[in-house]
Amino acid sequence: MFTAPEKISAAPPIGHFINGQRALDAGSTQPVYNPATGRVVRQVVLAEPDTVRDAIAAAEQAFPGWRNTTPISRARVMFRFKELIEKHAETIASLITEEHGKVLDDARGELQRGIENIEYACGAPELLKGEHSRNVGRGIDSWSEYQPLGVVAGITPSNFPAMVPLWMYPLALICGNTFILKPSERDPSSALFIGELLSEAGLPNGVFNLVNGDKQAVETLLTDRRVQAVSFVGSTAVAEKVYRTGTAHGKRVQALGSAKNHAVVMPDADLENAVNALLGAAYGSCGERCMAISVAVAVGHETADALAASLVERIGELTVGDGSDASNQIGPLITNEHRDRVKGYVDLGVEEGAKLIVDGRAQLQDEAGFFLGPCLFDHVKQHMRVYKEEIFGPVLSIVRVDRLEDAIDLIDTHDFGNGTCIFTRDGEAARYFSDHVQIGMVGINVPLPVPVAYFSFGGWKRSLFGDLHIYGPDAVRFYTRSKVITQRWPSGGVREKAKFSFPGSD
Ligand code: NAD
Repeated sequence: MFTAPEKISAAPPIGHFINGQRALDAGSTQPVYNPATGRVVRQVVLAEPDTVRDAIAAAEQAFPGWRNTTPISRARVMFRFKELIEKHAETIASLITEEHGKVLDDARGELQRGIENIEYACGAPELLKGEHSRNVGRGIDSWSEYQPLGVVAGITPSNFPAMVPLWMYPLALICGNTFILKPSERDPSSALFIGELLSEAGLPNGVFNLVNGDKQAVETLLTDRRVQAVSFVGSTAVAEKVYRTGTAHGKRVQALGSAKNHAVVMPDADLENAVNALLGAAYGSCGERCMAISVAVAVGHETADALAASLVERIGELTVGDGSDASNQIGPLITNEHRDRVKGYVDLGVEEGAKLIVDGRAQLQDEAGFFLGPCLFDHVKQHMRVYKEEIFGPVLSIVRVDRLEDAIDLIDTHDFGNGTCIFTRDGEAARYFSDHVQIGMVGINVPLPVPVAYFSFGGWKRSLFGDLHIYGPDAVRFYTRSKVITQRWPSGGVREKAKFSFPGSD
């Protein structure tokens, strides 16, 4: 799967997939890097507005036919789709690692969590069942049903190039919609590879389309009146803009954004378990996860001292390097610019007075890849930018508080509200925490509480704009409009007289 450098210039750029066919346009190209080597592996075309409009037209044309298919036939496409992805899983995982940098096992894990959304979508006939009531009035029956919206679009981030698209379109498609995916231009290959498998699985042309592109393509999707709804996942700066523009253009929008996830470590926690969990949750995928733990809130100074000492020791054992080498646990960051940005935050934390007790800034700096070693700050304070802002890199901050209530206040005051967790042996404290904390996804001795496919995923506060969470049951609501039908068939030739009072139900 890894492309030899001399073949890159000859290889055609990554293009689009419209109406069941690959398409290239005259849009500008942008390099796609292997972050572990720092080399360009291919180019991606950034769609021109007319290309995006072609994809919308193909989806619009395919909608009436697809809307009228049966839910069970849509589910059968999903069954075949899942099998095809599983058949090609190693190729897809290699593409993820090659373009994103995360280690191969992590890429496999991401794909597996994506597949689970397809498995959920295979329940289409059950998921789309409405409710029925006989005799809501005399001789009158009522039922509800979920109707598709039409053409819907998904815009996805670079950090989960395979999984996040699969949070969206399997559900949108089984609801009877047609779809346009705009993946991240930084690592576009796995989404295109997976999307093309839908045709082989039997999906009619035009039902699923993919355009590669940047903010111009996003703008076209957000303003075209034919697009009924948009799912967005990315940074809060973009999510908020996408939500405002999309809703101003009459669309239904869900826009998931950035995060700063806190792990509370109580004095009674199993420290070894908490440290193991924190290492994976803070430094896995080089910290480029929206559910990464970036703040450890230690309750009590003794807890903080023990936690800091144990983390320092264990961080020293972590291996950083090319994600395609199975001996490495942490890969590079996605781009050189992002590596510089994260490094800049570490410099800033030092200036702000936080204590840098593990400094990974010098690690692998002679390599051409975009590496940064794990960093650990202690004595981080609430007013510091390294605490307030999302860093999205291998940087964990320890904040010291005296009581659980102080930890909850700290978390609740933060702008973001994606995930949080608590490490404790005290059931009462855990229940109090999960009851009161103002966060969308909570773990109890579980560091990354990413809901399984049959629950829905979403943060609170500035981590999500919109009303419904993504995937799971909320997705069926997001991608459909509910309709209630009330029906009477006059029987025995009896006709009602005109009534001028509001109808009751006796
Ligand atoms: P990003 O916001 O840079 O890009 C996301 C998408 O938006 C991409 O498809 C990109 O092409 C597009 N985009 C970028 N700038 C745009 C602009 N100005 N106008 C319109 N579209 C634009 O995010 P990223 O760096 O690819 O991903 C990392 C971010 O995503 C982090 O902030 C992370 O927390 C967040 N994220 C959130 C979740 C979640 O579920 N809440 C999941 C994954 C990632």
